[in-house]
Amino acid sequence: MNEKIAPKYDEQLCMQCQACVGVCPQQALSFLDDKIVVDENKCVGCGMCASICPAKALTMPE
Ligand code: SF4
Ligand code: SF4
Repeated sequence: MNEKIAPKYDEQLCMQCQACVGVCPQQALSFLDDKIVVDENKCVGCGMCASICPAKALTMPE
């Protein structure tokens, strides 16, 4: 239900550092099969993951 506020993820940009997994206060991010999976039902759209991602692989919707 939160698909409009969850970050977009670009697998091509991701460096697989997993920093976003640790910073998400909702545990909405998982690292599975060498990529990040966003649980849109847990995400509250805080933007923390996008702000710390060194590769800008996570971006918040407008
Ligand atoms: S912080 Fe960015 S580069 Fe690192 S695993 Fe998450 S999406 Fe990928
Ligand atoms: S926007 Fe916030 S709640 Fe949603 S995945 Fe990123 S850090 Fe987690």
